[in-house]
Amino acid sequence: MKILVLNAGSSSQKSCLYEIPEAAFPETAAEPIWEAMVDWGANPDYGSLTVVANGSKQERHLASDAPSRGLEAVLETLVQGETQVLGSLSEITIVGHRVVHGGDRYSQATFITEAVKQTIEELIPLAPNHNPAHLDEILAVEAVLGEIPQVAVFDTAFHTSIPPAAATYPIPYDWFDKGIRRYGFHGISHRYCAEQAATLSGKPLESLRMITAHLGNGASLAAIREGKSINTSMGFTPLEGLMMGTRSGSIDPAIPLYLMKETGLDAQGVDRLLNKESGLKGIFGPSGDLREILQAREAGNPRAALAFEMYVGRLQGAIASMIPQLGGLDLLAFTAGVGENSSAVRSATCAGLEFLGLQLDEGKNRGSAKNSLISSPNSSVQVWVIHAQEDWAIARDCWQLAQRHRKGYSNET
Ligand code: ADP
Repeated sequence: MKILVLNAGSSSQKSCLYEIPEAAFPETAAEPIWEAMVDWGANPDYGSLTVVANGSKQERHLASDAPSRGLEAVLETLVQGETQVLGSLSEITIVGHRVVHGGDRYSQATFITEAVKQTIEELIPLAPNHNPAHLDEILAVEAVLGEIPQVAVFDTAFHTSIPPAAATYPIPYDWFDKGIRRYGFHGISHRYCAEQAATLSGKPLESLRMITAHLGNGASLAAIREGKSINTSMGFTPLEGLMMGTRSGSIDPAIPLYLMKETGLDAQGVDRLLNKESGLKGIFGPSGDLREILQAREAGNPRAALAFEMYVGRLQGAIASMIPQLGGLDLLAFTAGVGENSSAVRSATCAGLEFLGLQLDEGKNRGSAKNSLISSPNSSVQVWVIHAQEDWAIARDCWQLAQRHRKGYSNET
């Protein structure tokens, strides 16, 4: 099967193509045979397309008014030139989309029908930067590839199992019915990370009480029991929870009101301040990239040291706050850019959790390879570093859905 995975952001679009045997889905993740990235954000006049396949890297510009978000030109590179990996586009079996917001309506991947498109559209007010891009992309695939099966894999789906007490805000209950509730995000990554960590630890997923820490530019935790998400740190929007690269995470909800009243900032201004100018960047100043902050901290920069201390402190607090609901902790897994690469964050975070009987093996932590155990053998909590594979997880959902479809089952994985 040739599975095309599309991951559309507000100003970028990533695509990759996996070739997967029909007989069985591989246990370990394979690399895509073709990858393309369009950056629409850097220049107002054009998008920058980069394609990698067959050991070759091709770059070109796409006109900003290219039809179908430039998808036709992107897919042309699958069948032409040095990056050609297909004889014809009709070889693509199925297309999977990462869709940020499925509300509380989708707990699993689903084939895209008119009703699914309508739901994605209805949810635009909850994900104004992402859901319009997903819809555009779905329509673009229809225009370029015709009636190919398309699948939506939702970032919210994994968290639909969160019980009401964790999903409801302590505001007038009517608002819950109007959709003001905790949805959670990064679900594709949390689910994959949990399954991968369970497999590697040799224990059934259902037997583990675990916390997965997806620490990228955006960052969130998921508390997982019996393989299901029972809490997560992001909420109504991805702004809640941990301190992130440029997002504040949780703050006193009166602060935005104060800023609007006292400084004249409007809603858009506050939105920008909390999403783009806060978090690590807000404290450190020059950037929210943890690599730069770690370097500056080494060089004695006090704001870099403060940003790091705050980041870790809030992360520890959020981890600890989930343990009562889990009833203990068997496994902690770090994933994504910071989680996979920063031994300093992992070490400082785990140092505050030793009261749980958690013991990190510092040697393994510093030399950690992808998908490795970094706790010591007598630690009561296993600590893993898991390589994030969101696109592979989407491809897997597509593969499973296609298999079930062939056997005549309904619209579910
Ligand atoms: P996104 O959420 O945009 O997908 P990533 O998962 O790629 O982000 O994570 C990006 C972040 O990972 C960067 O901002 C950087 O702070 C962090 N990062 C990447 N490599 C390292 C490293 N070697 N050490 C510390 N932080 C790193």
